[in-house]
Amino acid sequence: MIRPIGTTNADNNLKNSGNKGSQPPRIIPRSDHNVSRKDISKSALKVLYRLHKAGYQAFLVGGCVRDSMLELHPKDFDVATNATPEEVRAQFGNCRLIGRRFRLAHVRFGREIIETATFRAAANHHDDDSKHDDEGRIIRDNVYGTIDEDVWRRDFTCNALYYNIADFSIWDYVGGVEDVKRKRLVLIGDPDQRLREDPVRMLRAVRFAGKLDFTIDESVVQAMRPNVGLLGNVPAARLFDEFLKLFQSGHAERTFDLLREHKLFGELFPATEEELRQDDRFMDFVRAALRNTDRRVAEGKSVTPMFLLGVFIWWPVKKLAEIRRSEEKMSESQSLSLASYEIVAQQQQRISLPRRFTVPMREMISLQPRFEFMRGKRATNLLQHRRFRAAYDFMMLQAEVGQADEAIATFWTDVQTQSAEERTASFGMKSQPAGKRKPRRRRRRKPAAES
Ligand code: ATP
Ligand code: MG
Repeated sequence: MIRPIGTTNADNNLKNSGNKGSQPPRIIPRSDHNVSRKDISKSALKVLYRLHKAGYQAFLVGGCVRDSMLELHPKDFDVATNATPEEVRAQFGNCRLIGRRFRLAHVRFGREIIETATFRAAANHHDDDSKHDDEGRIIRDNVYGTIDEDVWRRDFTCNALYYNIADFSIWDYVGGVEDVKRKRLVLIGDPDQRLREDPVRMLRAVRFAGKLDFTIDESVVQAMRPNVGLLGNVPAARLFDEFLKLFQSGHAERTFDLLREHKLFGELFPATEEELRQDDRFMDFVRAALRNTDRRVAEGKSVTPMFLLGVFIWWPVKKLAEIRRSEEKMSESQSLSLASYEIVAQQQQRISLPRRFTVPMREMISLQPRFEFMRGKRATNLLQHRRFRAAYDFMMLQAEVGQADEAIATFWTDVQTQSAEERTASFGMKSQPAGKRKPRRRRRRKPAAES
């Protein structure tokens, strides 16, 4: 049973007209949906119950409701309430207010943080405090509102479902329940306007499509086409966060295909896109890396973004390195280091990459030619290099797609499990390295022992 009857799902006009009337939501009682408290984190429940007990409205909203409906066991829970951030803080000792543009309450339970947001009005809602730039991008929206205003500023219908702690019902203003069932991503309001307000929503569409195996509604696909270029206006730091989410969710390969299909990948990684178009072998390498990333995520292993970033810039870097080497005398490693510096600088224009990733990434790249030296001190030094493991994985990935020498790959794989003696032999070194230091030390020790 659904009560009270508000928007029917055939009411797509409402969604698409951008009509933000005060229609009542469809309220789906607990008996008619599958979002169970068993799937909700204890901490999120504590926040919800406490706010409710204090007389406020308290809902779970966004991805956690969507993912619970899909039985995907959400990890991250967002709370929406009519309590102001200060009122939320007054309820919890373990609460911090963050954000200047919009204040959010972070309620902390050990390592878990429950983000608690006060309902806000939609960006273009009557004469509120929101501002748009020339292309329609929102640059400020910070007025508090009610739940039936809050819903319109959310991006996709599937992300605009509210789970009410008062009676465990779900409130649906926009046909989100139906869209979750049908696995489709539909933007709330006028798609063109919503993408112009915030071009990152195009990446979000692709991310959710990749992660949830949803289809992007044709109305969104159409609206994306003329707007892909607007990603260039998005602050590079925000795109880095989005990059992480796109490629570390365990569906990197599918997400990559969707990004390319919708012409978004080239906006994020222009040099990579250009090389991908020119050479299928680079595509083979990138795909192998994406699959490898997905496999690691599935196995619960860690993935570092610098590895995939290194993969994305590898061919542009190799090409530029050759040019630099023809201009000036330098080693292959030096040319790769220089070229990766230049390509990273270009790439930073689109996505800001923190130094903690770019520095090891350049090391990983410039170590590549050194795998060819399998003897002597140089080989020992490479094995002991702090970036050996990443550089080795990078080389192995090339070997996997026939782009690195099989014998070299086998050598470096074997050498890692050898005993010290075997390794010394592999590197073609004498077992007692001849040097002047040993006798000198002996000479010094002797008088000390005699005294
Ligand atoms: P996930 O946590 O799986 O990445 P999510 O939907 O929870 O997915 P969040 O980035 O955590 O995504 O955002 C929480 C909610 O905030 C979204 O579900 C959506 O309702 C709203 N939201 C987030 N980003 C935007 C945006 N750029 N435009 C409009 N609404 C947004
Ligand atoms: Mg979330």
